[in-house]
Amino acid sequence: MKCPFCGALEDRVVDSRPTDEGDTVRRRRECAKCYKRFTTYEKVEILPLVVIKKDNSRENFDRDKLMRGILRACEKRPVGADEMHKIVDEIETQLSNSLEREVSSQMIGELLMERLKKLDQVAYVRFASVYRDFGDIETFLEEIHKIRTEEDSEPGRPEAGEQFLRRRARADRKPSKSAPKRKRPTRRS
Ligand SMILES: [Zn+2]
Repeated sequence: MKCPFCGALEDRVVDSRPTDEGDTVRRRRECAKCYKRFTTYEKVEILPLVVIKKDNSRENFDRDKLMRGILRACEKRPVGADEMHKIVDEIETQLSNSLEREVSSQMIGELLMERLKKLDQVAYVRFASVYRDFGDIETFLEEIHKIRTEEDSEPGRPEAGEQFLRRRARADRKPSKSAPKRKRPTRRS
């Protein structure tokens, strides 16, 4: 700690004790250069992790909200509560360790998708379809293609994910500007 008298950076702590409330530690220090004494106070840094939402508004990170998202994605899937809690813990730890005080909701979504993908394909796609806002069929088909390619490289993998995607694709098929346009049949002359 920089000495307030001479500016030296070296000191030694001569006394250290918590304040009455216990949330602060008071340290008496002695400058190693000018030997004058000064006091510092140490507090635990409590900063909420802030999530930046898509519309740029902010809200505090909410474990329960993340858990609800996972529960919804894993509904009727063979995923245990322990596994779901573990995911929430892992993501929270990862975010806390990143030292960023603000994270985008998109980033949290990506972290969750990474984990769901390894855990359960159907849960993954369900979540991804909400989180990435599959507004257009092309993005959706890209996802199917990615999963299919991965399934091909992993023989014996259940195809439930793909079936879910197909059903979902049918349900979602609706006219959209970004949907691939069918080629008009060429007129025969
Ligand atoms: Zn000094």
